[in-house]
Amino acid sequence: MKFKRILLKLSGEALMGKKKYGIDPQRLEQYAQEIRKVKDIGLEIAIVIGGGNIFRGESAEAIGIDRVQGDYMGMLATVINGMALQSALEKAGMFTRLMSGIKVEQVCEQFIRRRAVRHLEKGRIVIFGAGIGNPYFTTDTTASLRAIEIEAEVVLKGTRVDGLYTADPEKHPDAKRFTQISFQEVFKNGYEVMDMTAFTLCQENNLPIIIFDMNKPGNLMKIVQGDEVGTLVH
Ligand code: UDP
Repeated sequence: MKFKRILLKLSGEALMGKKKYGIDPQRLEQYAQEIRKVKDIGLEIAIVIGGGNIFRGESAEAIGIDRVQGDYMGMLATVINGMALQSALEKAGMFTRLMSGIKVEQVCEQFIRRRAVRHLEKGRIVIFGAGIGNPYFTTDTTASLRAIEIEAEVVLKGTRVDGLYTADPEKHPDAKRFTQISFQEVFKNGYEVMDMTAFTLCQENNLPIIIFDMNKPGNLMKIVQGDEVGTLVH
């Protein structure tokens, strides 16, 4: 096993599956099974979940809601996703804790670093909801920050594409995928890996990121075992 403790970042959109909004139960179950496999070999797993399938702060102003209010709505959306993911993981036989960046006492614990680490040591999967709890941040930044705090060895960013390309592979069929690339190269070429805040946090703390296709069965397991899957940014 290459890693002992990972932070998996899943976007809210990924949970939509083929739907246009909300949560696709099949996708949720598929993710639970993938996570189960790596849990069974002893990996410690923390997950940051996004909220884009329900609400994004940036879209608030278009409907007459101010940005900060919208961001809190986005954070609550990630709590809803976290609850759905928690249920799916527990249904698949895992023990979990949902920890929130804002107080939502009836449904999840508040994020307390030492407690999160203890959960992981006890074999529980920790899901971080509500981002870092502040407006103007993203769940990618949450993934970087929490990974550093809990001393995860890597951020695994599960996406729809299987890594970082020289150009958008959906528009440029001749685009090439990197198997690995340095933080500096990414920055110099303006490639989009994560937003700058999230990216800089990883760079400054020497926290590698692996971008990979979470929808391809077995990919997560391959990464954990050290196979070259997706793109490693380091
Ligand atoms: N958000 C926030 N602070 C955070 C994390 C998230 O304000 O620390 C809000 C923000 O409005 C964002 C929304 O929650 O648009 C959903 O998160 P994100 O867009 O990162 O989700 P994803 O794109 O991964 O689905």
